[in-house]
Amino acid sequence: MLTKDVAICIRAVDFSETSQIVTFFARAAGKISAIAKGSKRPKSTFDGPIEIFSYGKIVFSDSNKEKLATLTEFESAYGSAGFTGLSNNLFTLNCCLFGSELLNKFTHDYDPHPKLFDDFLQFLQNAHEGNNKSEMLALLILFQLGLLKEVGLRPVLNACANCKTRYEGRKTGDEFYFSSSANGLICRDCEASFPDKVRLTQTAANYLSNLKLIAESKEKTLNEIEMVLIHHFTELLGRKPKMAKHILLS
Ligand SMILES: [Zn+2]
Repeated sequence: MLTKDVAICIRAVDFSETSQIVTFFARAAGKISAIAKGSKRPKSTFDGPIEIFSYGKIVFSDSNKEKLATLTEFESAYGSAGFTGLSNNLFTLNCCLFGSELLNKFTHDYDPHPKLFDDFLQFLQNAHEGNNKSEMLALLILFQLGLLKEVGLRPVLNACANCKTRYEGRKTGDEFYFSSSANGLICRDCEASFPDKVRLTQTAANYLSNLKLIAESKEKTLNEIEMVLIHHFTELLGRKPKMAKHILLS
């Protein structure tokens, strides 16, 4: 049976001299892995090898979901250009690769997430339009928090995740922490019960509790928030995401 969808390539590896194994995040079907036979031949039906972040219409056959699907058509929505401009800026490219790594890790095959598809496409488009480092970090943080929400792991950021004290009602000078095991912010009264907590500066806690303001945040605070999120993703996955080291040291 042939299935048509729109999809973004989130992984592409060589399978043979002429073929690739590609992972697509498809809007209606969810994540699929497929073999693109002959995609590396100069005159293939795919107009050349399929690159990561290629976006467009796909047709694939998935007669047996236990096995690799077979990609039969791919038509890029942007001609040959795609999001190739992303590689002009290494930090932007690394942020996009990090986003696709997390998308791959936190979704299952054939589990559709159309909202997450739209968010990721928007994230790539915003990244492609060129941003300075702070703007790119803010985009990455918002994408990462959106991803957690879409896969049912939304962290509690408007209150203490343990005692539910509203963040807005805090007293000045109150300390706030983030705990992966509590899945959110933790207040000073509760922090002792969460050995994995990370202390947040007042500024970082303010932005995390009010994400609408995050685009105005300074790079130092965005770095702090991203460090907390990398810590959180590491706890959730049981190991550090591969791209993490390229985000905070660049
Ligand atoms: Zn509390």
